[in-house]
Amino acid sequence: MTNIVTAVWAWGGRVSAAARDLVQSAGTLAAETGGELGVLALGTGAQIAADTLRAAGADVVLTCEEEALDTAPGEAGLAALVAGCEVLRPSLVLLPADSLGRDWAPRLGYRLGAGLVTEVTDWSLEEGRPVFQRLVFGGKAIATMTVAGGPAIATVRPGAGRRDEPPRAGRGEARDLGLAIEAWPSWPRLLRRQTEERQGPGLEEARAIVSGGRGLGGPEGFEPLGELALTLGGAVGASRAAVDEGWAPPTWQIGQTGKTVAPDLYVAVGISGASQHLVGCSRAKTIVAINRDPEAPIFDYARLGVVGDWREVVPALTVALKEMLAD
Ligand SMILES: Cc1cc2nc3c(=O)[nH]c(=O)nc-3n(C[C@H](O)[C@H](O)[C@H](O)COP(=O)(O)OP(=O)(O)OC[C@H]3O[C@@H](n4cnc5c(N)ncnc54)[C@H](O)[C@@H]3O)c2cc1C
Repeated sequence: MTNIVTAVWAWGGRVSAAARDLVQSAGTLAAETGGELGVLALGTGAQIAADTLRAAGADVVLTCEEEALDTAPGEAGLAALVAGCEVLRPSLVLLPADSLGRDWAPRLGYRLGAGLVTEVTDWSLEEGRPVFQRLVFGGKAIATMTVAGGPAIATVRPGAGRRDEPPRAGRGEARDLGLAIEAWPSWPRLLRRQTEERQGPGLEEARAIVSGGRGLGGPEGFEPLGELALTLGGAVGASRAAVDEGWAPPTWQIGQTGKTVAPDLYVAVGISGASQHLVGCSRAKTIVAINRDPEAPIFDYARLGVVGDWREVVPALTVALKEMLAD
């Protein structure tokens, strides 16, 4: 039996798609082992978020709305996690592999005396015990790891453990953690939040992503890609080569040194399929590749591929999709 705890940053009552996915996957894993899922909802607005988290499969939602969580999320969040783990006594803590989760995980591991596996891309059960997968050697190999004895902590990349099934029904209990957090003057403070301006959903939220690479030949190539993404209700991403060329902003980069995404559909346009790029998109449910080189490695990973010049394929695909959607 594995009792799991996860933490969700619920500032303003908002729960990101990635956080909802993590709760859903963690709930499924807990249920498969006969355990329970406890979710810590942290930040002002956490109580508003509780309904979403219960619907995603939480057995217990512990909310904490202390102001310090908004102003010093690293330190205050860690205090809330330690307190939440004292209440829920998990055998496994799953944290998102984002900036906060990566900050909390090793420090929580020290406090709980727990083993830590980072950057998990998937998991399974072996003899009733969770076994984690993570990419190593720049995404060229997969390591399978488990934590012997004691509690375990894992930081989880988007899409890990995802199953194509509706969320399980958890007990759905919600209560306040009852923790007062006083911010110490020495705690690092969050000075401001900046939201990237973009049309449509962000890359981490998008269910469809159209990404462009060096094969676009210039920044103007991202315009038709944007139109295709808009038609699909999705977002535009880029390979590092396209970002390095200055054709796309760094916030669009997907891969080892960029973002990890897990959309339903990932369209790779003029992207060769280097392992460092695939690390960032391999959890997409369906990869579609458009490349004029039939030998491009991306075709080994794509479920659907079009061999051709993107200048012909992308506009034709956009027109066809618009016609389909208009019917
Ligand atoms: C430590 C490290 C970290 C890295 N991190 C990342 C990362 O986070 N993300 C990332 O993407 N890369 C990363 N890279 C770089 C990575 O190794 C590749 O160099 C990069 O992904 C290549 O980008 P690309 O596929 O756009 O370009 P290329 O490899 O140059 O491929 C361009 C493709 O476009 C096709 N093409 C050309 N013209 C057309 C056309 N008219 N129509 C259709 N197709 C066409 C070509 O056939 C080719 O397959 C990293 C590398 C290192 C060493």
